[in-house]
Amino acid sequence: MLAELPGSIGFVPAPALPMNAASMLLARAQRTGSVAAAAGKTLPKRMASSSGQSSAILAGAAVATSAAAAARRLQRRRQPMSAPAAWRAHATQCKAEGEAKSGEYDYDLFTIGGGSGGVRGSRWAASQFGAKVAVAELPFDIVSTKFEKGGLGGTCVIRGCVPKKLLIYGSHFQEDIHDAKGYGWELPEGAKPTLDWDKLIQFKNDEVKRLNGIYGKLLGNAGVDHYEGYAKVIDPHTVEVGDKRFTAKYICVATGGRAFKLPIPGCDLPGVVTSDEALALPKQPKKLVVIGGGYIAVEFAGYFHGYGTEVHLIYRQPVPLRGFDEDIRSHLAEILEQKGIHVHSGESPLSIEETEDGQLRFKTDKGTELIVDNVMFATGRKPNSNDMGLEEAGVELDKKSGTVLVDEYSRTNVESIFAIGDVTDRIQLTPVALMEGMAMARTMFANESGDPTKPDYENVPSAVFSQPPVGTCGLTESDAATKYGSVDVYVTKFKPMKHTMPTGRGEEERMMMKMIVISDGFDGAGRVVGCHMVGAEAGEMMQGIGVAMKAGALKADFDATIGIHPTAAEEWCTMRTKTRTTTAEDVKEKAAA
Ligand SMILES: Cc1cc2nc3c(=O)[nH]c(=O)nc-3n(C[C@H](O)[C@H](O)[C@H](O)COP(=O)(O)OP(=O)(O)OC[C@H]3O[C@@H](n4cnc5c(N)ncnc54)[C@H](O)[C@@H]3O)c2cc1C
Repeated sequence: MLAELPGSIGFVPAPALPMNAASMLLARAQRTGSVAAAAGKTLPKRMASSSGQSSAILAGAAVATSAAAAARRLQRRRQPMSAPAAWRAHATQCKAEGEAKSGEYDYDLFTIGGGSGGVRGSRWAASQFGAKVAVAELPFDIVSTKFEKGGLGGTCVIRGCVPKKLLIYGSHFQEDIHDAKGYGWELPEGAKPTLDWDKLIQFKNDEVKRLNGIYGKLLGNAGVDHYEGYAKVIDPHTVEVGDKRFTAKYICVATGGRAFKLPIPGCDLPGVVTSDEALALPKQPKKLVVIGGGYIAVEFAGYFHGYGTEVHLIYRQPVPLRGFDEDIRSHLAEILEQKGIHVHSGESPLSIEETEDGQLRFKTDKGTELIVDNVMFATGRKPNSNDMGLEEAGVELDKKSGTVLVDEYSRTNVESIFAIGDVTDRIQLTPVALMEGMAMARTMFANESGDPTKPDYENVPSAVFSQPPVGTCGLTESDAATKYGSVDVYVTKFKPMKHTMPTGRGEEERMMMKMIVISDGFDGAGRVVGCHMVGAEAGEMMQGIGVAMKAGALKADFDATIGIHPTAAEEWCTMRTKTRTTTAEDVKEKAAA
């Protein structure tokens, strides 16, 4: 799971150790007994338990020996060292070094927002680079409000990736029970599984609360101070949380974003929700409208449908998932309908009214009228960048969207203020926010003058947890053809093995995989520049494909790899027949048509 846990690293391969970690360890070994005592835990017991000056000398010698060994180990293992090992090694060093680097400010770094990016960047700065760090975050609640409610862990943990995935897991059981009949399983006569919605939401909330607690511990263990409340920037080096003010060498804005509703009549009626409230509805809707064609809309439509809600999915485009590969979009659109989700493509919401019996009358611009229990807006998110002193402190925001504008190192136009994660709207994904946090910490603190480190946005794999899910890495067919001049496209569609038994769901689960390769005669010929799929376990598969693509894999490398049989994933290694070639000209012609 990609959460902010100790072993979870989403960054460029080399561990983020300071430039001269090995020599710092040696220098530390030569320092006084207090440092040696700090390292006493790692000494042989006999030495660690000696007392007085001689013990300090012995301890110093032992630390010198172990530091030299550690230094050698570090030097030897620098590149291939696993990130958790690097983390532990350097955390020990930082604890021994203790104090903040600068005496001028209360903190080296003050982070506003304790979500994915803020927690990772802060923890990394403290544990990897010995910085004195604080994080401000709103008090915990399942549903957030702009000024009062939030919680450590942020969107991903409390009202995004994690709760959503848990509810998606749960929603599959209905299909699983149905599929089981295709394998000879029978339910007792008349038996029908029933869902206890209260329990489902309670168990999900319990898990979210547990994770929120873990985030607090992670910060504590890294020595990061945590302040609860709404934070504001007072000037380029001062932050205010409630009635307290703190100075900091650097400020990091990691305040994420909030879902917004289209301003149509009735959008504020009770029962009209965003993803925040939809994840915690006190009652399962019998009938639900989901507005939006993005990944959040199709994911929520899928899981409510799985639990038995009648779902109407409304979007403006002909197919969902704008920005994704066209073949994937149309394949998923077909499946959503086959599954029984009521798809209203090419429609926009017009109004919502309350009916006499407390339901909602929802209307679209194409004359569709539905009486439903809830309407969910999944129509986008806005950055949390206003009402917090940023513009007054001179930070430039995008005039239209409010996005905090940053350079490729996540620095705003104010030198001491950085911004990471969703508030900067680069790629709005948790692992990307984590990467940006780590790169920022390295830029600020990797050595005295910083070690400017850019986040790397090439070949970021991702998944849409629709049912079935979508996995994607690299460029779409049209983007790849435009960028490289010409690409060869390999497409395969098939009924997955599980549904060759009489589950009756073979069509709904039909898999699609697509690989895009630079054509012969063009720069980079043979390199795989796009992989996309719809089908079970797409997210799990795409993680491995992402590694291959990051390593610059050629189609020939995929072909030379032995498949694992029988799996769906082996198809990636057996796509021998080219489906078509697409050139930049083809893309232009299609766009003009
Ligand atoms: C429904 C949903 C599903 C998602 N699913 C996925 C997924 O499957 N995979 C994936 O990779 N990504 C997913 N995402 C996106 C992911 O959650 C975000 O990209 C990620 O959380 C961004 O992290 P962040 O640190 O930028 O912001 P956030 O995690 O939003 O954290 C910002 C924090 O700042 C706090 N804050 C804001 N203003 C202040 C202030 N003035 N003072 C103090 N605190 C403040 C907020 O309370 C919040 O906790 C999903 C998002 C949503 C909404």
